Amino acid sequence: MPTIEQQAARLLEENDVRRAPVPVDAIARAAGLDVRYAPTTDDVSGALIRDGKAAVIAVNSAQHENRQRFTIAHEIGHYILHKRTERHFDEDFRIDYRNSVSSEATERSEIEANGFAAALLMPEIFLRRDLLRVELDENNPDPAIQTLAVRYKVSRRAMELRLLNLGFISPV
Ligand SMILES: [Zn+2]
Repeated sequence: MPTIEQQAARLLEENDVRRAPVPVDAIARAAGLDVRYAPTTDDVSGALIRDGKAAVIAVNSAQHENRQRFTIAHEIGHYILHKRTERHFDEDFRIDYRNSVSSEATERSEIEANGFAAALLMPEIFLRRDLLRVELDENNPDPAIQTLAVRYKVSRRAMELRLLNLGFISPV
């Protein structure tokens, strides 16, 4: 069984994606997912609806573009990792779910979908390469985090978590 990181990396390879920002909408469509954007209330981020072979990702287009990208990547994660789920609705899920220690199944699947989203939007090999060019000050990593977040089209918080999880920066 390949790891979540490996599954995300394989999807990038199949789509010939070699640099940030990762075209997450195009990747979803290439995987056979229909992506539909509609504005809705802020407590909903998105949904994955599977009906036989067809599947649709719904995205709350009222949220920030970076958040929409994370939502699509998160729903692709559910699509690939949680094959038996027919309907999955994401309330305004926390991107740092990963830090939670709960072992509840729903929460575990959210952690997995977030892990997949982070790996897809911020691939380790891309970051390794970009970190050679971005000056990362251990004592003040914020400017580097900001630069990378803009380049990868993710939120500052998502980039910070990814760099922490990969061990590129240390917790303060
Ligand atoms: Zn979810």
